Amino acid sequence: MAKKRSIGGFKSNRKNKSLDVQQSLISIIVDIHNTPILRQSATQKLLALNRKHRLEMPKYIGVMICKKCQILYNSKNSSTRIKHGQIIKTCHVCQDVRRLGGGPKHHRG
Ligand SMILES: [Zn+2]
Repeated sequence: MAKKRSIGGFKSNRKNKSLDVQQSLISIIVDIHNTPILRQSATQKLLALNRKHRLEMPKYIGVMICKKCQILYNSKNSSTRIKHGQIIKTCHVCQDVRRLGGGPKHHRG
């Protein structure tokens, strides 16, 4: 007799569990008392988890991470400038530039 296996079916359960893991990884990342190595490895785990389970990255975490080289921004490896109403973040590791925000007011519809 074949073993009963449930394929699918528990999709919501799996999603809830991955959301739990996501929350605990985020709490490691935002806790500045953790070591930089721990926070960096939690960042990489979080990105892998989000990709695997197709989870949405919370916005306040997304702006802390370089999308290109997956490094956690701090005051030493990145610079933040405000120009024309946009936040401009430059990663000093991969020289990637990210612009956040709507830009100048006269550009908005
Ligand atoms: Zn980078």
